[in-house]
Amino acid sequence: MPELKLDTPVQYLKGVGPRRGQALAKASINNLYDLFHFLPRRYIDRTMITPIGSLEANLEATIVGKILGKGILKGKRSRLEVIIGDETGYVALIWFAGYRYFENIFNKGDIYAVTGTVTYYQQLQFIHPEVERIEAQDSELIHTGRIVPVYPSTAELKKAGLTGRVMRQIISRALESVEGMTDYLPEKYIETHSLMPLSAAFRDIHYPSEMGEADRARKRLSFDELLELQYLILNTRKRYTGIKKRHIYKTTGKIIDTFLKELSFPLTADQKEAVKQIFDDMQSVRPMHRLLQGDVGCGKTVVALLAGLYAAENGLQTAFMTPTELLAEQHYKNWREPLEKIGIDSTLIIGGISKSDRRVAEEKIRTGRVRIIFGTHAIFSESVQFEHLGLVIIDEQHRFGVMQRGKLISKGEHPDTLVMTATPIPRTLALTLYGDLDITSIKTLPPGRQPAKTVWRMADSRPEIYQFLRTKLKQHEQIFIIYPLVEKSEKLDLQAAEEEYQRLKKEIFPDYKVGLVHGRVDREAREKVIEGFRKGRLSILVATTVIEVGLDIPAASIMVIEHAERFGLSQLHQLRGRVGRGEKRGMTIAIAVPPLGNLARKRLDFFQASHDGFKIAEADLKLRGPGEFFGTKQHGLPELKIADLTMDTDLLPITRKIIFNLLADDKKLDNNDDKLLSYLLAKADYRQNLTRFG
Ligand code: ADP
Ligand code: MG
Repeated sequence: MPELKLDTPVQYLKGVGPRRGQALAKASINNLYDLFHFLPRRYIDRTMITPIGSLEANLEATIVGKILGKGILKGKRSRLEVIIGDETGYVALIWFAGYRYFENIFNKGDIYAVTGTVTYYQQLQFIHPEVERIEAQDSELIHTGRIVPVYPSTAELKKAGLTGRVMRQIISRALESVEGMTDYLPEKYIETHSLMPLSAAFRDIHYPSEMGEADRARKRLSFDELLELQYLILNTRKRYTGIKKRHIYKTTGKIIDTFLKELSFPLTADQKEAVKQIFDDMQSVRPMHRLLQGDVGCGKTVVALLAGLYAAENGLQTAFMTPTELLAEQHYKNWREPLEKIGIDSTLIIGGISKSDRRVAEEKIRTGRVRIIFGTHAIFSESVQFEHLGLVIIDEQHRFGVMQRGKLISKGEHPDTLVMTATPIPRTLALTLYGDLDITSIKTLPPGRQPAKTVWRMADSRPEIYQFLRTKLKQHEQIFIIYPLVEKSEKLDLQAAEEEYQRLKKEIFPDYKVGLVHGRVDREAREKVIEGFRKGRLSILVATTVIEVGLDIPAASIMVIEHAERFGLSQLHQLRGRVGRGEKRGMTIAIAVPPLGNLARKRLDFFQASHDGFKIAEADLKLRGPGEFFGTKQHGLPELKIADLTMDTDLLPITRKIIFNLLADDKKLDNNDDKLLSYLLAKADYRQNLTRFG
C-alpha cells in the first residue's frame, strides 16, 4: 500500500471505496486530514463507569448495561420505566416527560450508556438521564479497558452505512498508517510551545490512553488550525500591502471645514482621533484597510462621511455601502442636502429604485458628477461604472463577509476601504477576525446621552406594559415595537408581525396612529411610513428587525422588543441603540414569551444590567460560543473544527506571530519553515477550490 498522506482522498482508505467516499464528502470529509479532524463527540472511559451494583443515591454516575425490560406505568403522573442491568445488578430509568417517545427507543437486549444523578424513591433510579446506545462490539472495547471515542452521526452518513461504529473502524485503520508520519510543523515550534507531534496528536485525539492526552492532542490540532487561519488572513493582508494607489492625496481643504462648521455638533475627541487616523491612511501610498469599531450610536457615520468628503476634495468617488436598503435610504435622506450645500452631489443605488432613476444615477456615477454613492451591494453590480472610485465605506461590517469585501475592493483601482462595526470585540479576537485590517475604536458616546433604561418582562405583563405605553403616548413620546424576523421562518414571522400590527392598531391603541415596516413593504410605502414616524405623524412604529442596523430616528424614545428571547445579546443591544438619542431618556422593554430557557434568561438579565457594548459583545460571545457569534462562514473564514476562539485565546498571538514572521519580506527562511509555508499554501489553495466548487 502506498504511503498515506494527509491529502490522500478518503475513498482510497481501507474499507471506504467510492460510495462511502461520496457520503463522507457530503459531510465535508474529503481526505485523510478531514477524517482525522472528524472528532469524537465524546469518549466513554471505562474508569468512569460505575458497576450498577455500586450505585449510590444522590451521586452522578455513568453506567453501561443491557436493557432488560420496559413498561408504562399509568397514574397521576404516567411514566416510562426501563430496567437496565449489568453483571452486578439492575436499576430503573424513569421518564415522565416525553415518555411515549422514549418508549419507542429502547429495545430489549440493546446496550446503553446512561449518565445522570441517581435518586432513591422506593428503589434506586435515574430520572431523565442522558442515554446513548452502544454497539455490542464497543461494549467489548469498553470492557477491555480502553477509552472509546463516540462519533457524531448524521442522517446522511447513516444512510450510507456510516454509523458511529463504521466511522470508528475507518478512523482506527487509518490511524495505523500514520505512525511516524512527517510533521509539517518544524521541531522548534513543537518544542517552544510544548506541542504534541502530529501523528501522536491524531492518535490521541481519537484514542487517548487517558483523558489528559486528548486535551493535549486537541491543543496541537487547534494550534495548527489557527496557524492556517492566520496564514489566510495575513496573506490577504500582504497582498494588499504590495499595492500602491494611483492617486496621491493632498492636504484637506475648504469643503471639510465648511462641512464641520455647518454640522450641528462638534466632534468628540474620539471621533477627531478616528478622522485623523483615517486621513493619515488615505494620504499613504498604500490603500487603507481600516476597521472603525464603536458602540451603536457613537457617531461612526459622520466620521465615515468626512472620509468621503476628503476623497471628494481630491476628485475621487466614495461608495458608502450598507447591508439594508432602509439604511442606505436613511443615509441618503439625511445627508443629501447638507452635502449639496457644500457642493457635493450624492446619489442612491439600491435594488428598489426604478429603472429610469437607476439609469440616471448610473450616468452621473460614470461621468463623475456624483461623488458620494449611498447604497446596498447593488452599488457593485456590473452596470455601475465609476469615474474614479477612491473610497469604499462598508457600514455594519458584521453583516458582510471577508470574501465579499475582497470582491468589492477589486472593483475600484485599489480604493481605500473603511469598514465599520457596532459589535466591538476584544483585541486579540479582532486581530483574528479582522486581522487583515487596522483598527480604530470610538470608545465614548457623544455628550449628553442618557443611557437608556432597560427592563425585561414575561409576556403575561403585556397589559401593564400597554398601560405604561399609554401614559408615554399621552406625553407625546414615540414608540418602536420590534418583532423578530429570521430567514428560516421569514414567512411566519412576517405574518406574526402583520397580525400584531393589526391588533395594536385596532384593539390596543385605536386612538393613536400606528405604522408598519418590514422588508417586504415596497419602497415608497416604507419611506412614507418612516418619514411619518420621523416627523411625528405616527406615534407607534411596528417593525421587524430590518430596523436593527443603524436606523436613526432621534425622536423615538421607547422601544418594545417582542419575543426578546429569540434575539442574540448583541442584536438586542443594537436594537436598543435606536432609541433615546434625542432629549428624552430612552427606555427599552424586552418581552419574553415562554417557554424560556436558562440561556435566554441569562441573556435577558445581562441585557437589562449592562449598557456597555464591549461587555455585551464579550458576554454574547461566551453565551453563544464563537461559532454562532462570529458566524465564521459568514465572515468568509474557514470554519474552525477544533480550535475554540474563546478557549484558545492564548494561541492567537502565538500563531499570528509565527505567520507574521514567515511572511515577512526580509526574512531568511530555513528549510523547515519553507516546508511549513508550502504546506500552508497548498492548504489555502485547497480550501479556495472547495469554496469555489462546493
Ligand atoms: P453609529 O455609530 O451607531 O452609526 P450614528 O453615526 O448613526 O451612530 O450616530 C448616532 C447619532 O449621534 C446621530 O443622530 C448623529 O447625528 C449623532 N452624533 C454623532 N456624532 C455626534 C457628536 N459628536 N455630538 C452629538 N451628536 C452626535
Ligand atoms: Mg451606523
